[in-house]
Amino acid sequence: MQLNDLYKEIILDHYQSPHNRGRPPHADIEAEGSNPLCGDDVEVFVLLDGDRVKEVRFDGSGCAISLAAASMMSEVLEGKSKAEVREIGDLFKAMMHGEDVDLPEEMEDLEALKGVANFPLRVKCALLAWTTLEHGLANENVGGRVSIEVD
Ligand code: ZN
Repeated sequence: MQLNDLYKEIILDHYQSPHNRGRPPHADIEAEGSNPLCGDDVEVFVLLDGDRVKEVRFDGSGCAISLAAASMMSEVLEGKSKAEVREIGDLFKAMMHGEDVDLPEEMEDLEALKGVANFPLRVKCALLAWTTLEHGLANENVGGRVSIEVD
């Protein structure tokens, strides 16, 4: 897989020293997602403060791309409103589907995953945490834990 070296470094850095990895004692939203094609399993926990995301944590096992993407996601979503979370998720998805998007400067780490768009099988890895979070948010009022499988 050919990725720009700087981008590769950012991805490996998030993979080897993930940010916000761990299970909080309490979460307002809990969702788990799996990507059986690659063997990635990611759990996403969100702590809310009213309409805003106070903290995102994740746990799981999988390839470097799936875990680096979860780490990056947890960082950029802190302090965002639910509406902003959806907007950022849509931007990220568009980028992973090869569209040319303008990411806010504070989210430039996400750009490291841009090259993955050229590898359709790995796009699912990059999107797993985001898709999982999206399902968690959509089912927030239902309560309990949401479980999805991407294919
Ligand atoms: Zn993967």
